[in-house]
Amino acid sequence: MPIKNKSKDMIQTILVIAGSDPCGGAGIQADLKTITTIGGYCAAVITCITVQNSYGVTNINALSPELIKKQIFAVFQDHNVTHVKIGMVGDITNSEAIAQSLDTFEGTIVYDPVMNATTGQQLFRQEQETHRPDKLINRVSVLTPNIPELETLTNKKVTSKTEALSASRLLLSEFANLQSILLKGGHADDMKDITDYFVFKYKGKIEIESATHPRILSKNSHGTGCTLASAFSTYHTIYNDNLLAFHHSIKYMSSLIKLGSEQLIVRNPSGCGPLLHYKWKEI
Ligand code: PLP
Repeated sequence: MPIKNKSKDMIQTILVIAGSDPCGGAGIQADLKTITTIGGYCAAVITCITVQNSYGVTNINALSPELIKKQIFAVFQDHNVTHVKIGMVGDITNSEAIAQSLDTFEGTIVYDPVMNATTGQQLFRQEQETHRPDKLINRVSVLTPNIPELETLTNKKVTSKTEALSASRLLLSEFANLQSILLKGGHADDMKDITDYFVFKYKGKIEIESATHPRILSKNSHGTGCTLASAFSTYHTIYNDNLLAFHHSIKYMSSLIKLGSEQLIVRNPSGCGPLLHYKWKEI
């Protein structure tokens, strides 16, 4: 796959590689809205068609690895891709096809290792014992797991800040090319505040940056994982700096959750509605 060098004269394209959510709350639809509202250009390669709403996920149809690779090639052939954000890949085969397609890409790759939907269904098909997309993880710069995803990836229980940070260190030491982990703290038990972490390799050591913010209670939080990883990627195109991208993307998330928290969006009385990206403003 010939990946073109960055071109100074062309605008930057963020390529999103992810699954489709027909209700528009998560997946590629959330990525497109996030990147557009922050002010970036987003190209979108679809890996899986899902059938889902707030009642649950009823179907997942993964596209073939060949079709995914052809889509990626078409974007790279024509666009100045500087950042790639990966979400739901569907299975190991697709994760490896994506890793292969990005083999010679020199820009920033952010991977949200989507495993399960909030409604419980598995979004990453685990084939026998090979339950991790290892080749893809070792190809990316930034991994953005939530706590349950961190538990799956390390096969360890994470019940405290200390365990979360040591699991992150473990992943960073296991994957030599992985540079940093943006760990989403929303699933931790603290009901008052959320702390997110950016754990990164720096001069042979592991450094930790954190951001603590009040937990906003909202029924409309579907797609927050996809949105945060896309926001990080977009702010990274703007600032070219991991820590600025980390803090700005968390501010974006917090304000979006607040702005949509009171809205009635889905009919399902106990369903989790989506974020309303179009309402975004700095608050
Ligand atoms: N569906 C798709 C296509 C996704 O990419 C994701 C991403 O996390 C989800 C569903 C899960 O969203 P949530 O965890 O908010 O249910």
